[in-house]
Amino acid sequence: MTPSPYLNDPKVYIDTDTFIDLINKRTRCLICCEALESKVVNREHVLPKWILRKYDLYDKELTLPHEYHGRRYDRHTIPCCKDCNSLLGRKLEQPVRRLTEGGYAKLLRHLDDDGHRVLFAWLCWIFLKFLIKDGAIAIKPDHRVDAVVEDKDTDWATLHHIHCIARSPYTGARIAPEVLGSVVILAIDDDRYREDFDFVTVHETQTIMIRLGDLAIIANLSDSGRSMDIIHRFVLPGKQERFTILQALEICADMAATTTRINAKPVYFTRIDQATGRPSIHADLPVHEANPVDPSTRAAIFELVYREHLPHLKIAGNDMSALQAIRENRLTFLDHRMSRAATEIKE
Ligand SMILES: [Zn+2]
Repeated sequence: MTPSPYLNDPKVYIDTDTFIDLINKRTRCLICCEALESKVVNREHVLPKWILRKYDLYDKELTLPHEYHGRRYDRHTIPCCKDCNSLLGRKLEQPVRRLTEGGYAKLLRHLDDDGHRVLFAWLCWIFLKFLIKDGAIAIKPDHRVDAVVEDKDTDWATLHHIHCIARSPYTGARIAPEVLGSVVILAIDDDRYREDFDFVTVHETQTIMIRLGDLAIIANLSDSGRSMDIIHRFVLPGKQERFTILQALEICADMAATTTRINAKPVYFTRIDQATGRPSIHADLPVHEANPVDPSTRAAIFELVYREHLPHLKIAGNDMSALQAIRENRLTFLDHRMSRAATEIKE
C-alpha cells in the first residue's frame, strides 16, 4: 500500500511517535509542530486567560496532584506559537466562553452538536496542557528520550488521540460522533464555597472536571460515551436538579472509576480523505461489557479527587475519618446513596 502523502504532515496528522517526540523535546509548537525558534512564541496559559481573569486566579496557587505544588496559575504556561494561540482563541476559547458565560441554564439552551464538539475539543486541550505541565508524563530533563522509552505506564496512544482532538481546530479534522466521550453537565448551588472555580483531573482515566460558577462540566475524554449508562443508572440521582461541590466531585470520581470497568477500550484513528486531504477522527468500538469495579482502584480515585477537602471533612457522630471512609468505599454525598453509606457525612 502506498503511504498516504499526508502521513505526518503536521497540517493534517502526526503519528504517535511524532507526538511523543513533540511532547518530550518541547522545541516545537504543540499545535502546528513548527520549531519555536522560527516562530513568534506566546506563553499559552494552561487555564485560559479569560478564566484566570473572570475568577481572579492570576495570583492564586494551583494544587497539583503530582510533584509540582504551589505553582501559580498565571505562571502555568506551555510554549505555543503566536499564530496557534490566536487560532485557538478564535476557534476554541471564544466559542466556549460564549457558551459558558451565562452559566448552566444558558449552556443547556445553546449547546448544539457543534457546541458539544467545540466544548469537547476545548476540554481535551486543557487536559493535555495540564498533563504536560504537571509532570504527569515522566520526563527527566537530561534523559528525555530514555525516560519515554522506559515509561511503560503512560498510555501514549490515548494521549495521542486527545492531542488529535485538541488540535482539530488547526487541522480541520472532523470529529465523528462515536469519538465524543461521556460528558455530564451539572447545575451547582453551594453557598459554603467562596471560590467560584474548581478544577480536577484524573490523569490515568482521562477525566476532567471544570466548574465555572454555577456550572460544572465533567468529562471522560477517551471512553466514547461508554460510562454514561452506568453513570445514569447508578450515580446520578433521577430528580435532583442542583448539586453541591462535594456531590459534583463524587460524580467526577465515579465517572473516572467507571472508565476502569470498560473491558475493551475504544480504538481511535484518523482517516484522511485522499481527494481533499481532510482528516476525520473515528473510533472502533469493540463489544462492550462492564467489569466489576475494583474497590481499591475506586478508593484511590476518590482519594485523589477529594484530596484538597479531606482535612476539612468530618463524619457526623462517628470517629471514622473521611479518608478511612473513602478507603472502605463508604464515603458518599449523594442522598440517594446515603442509606447504603456508613453514616451521614457533613463538612
Ligand atoms: Zn503553532
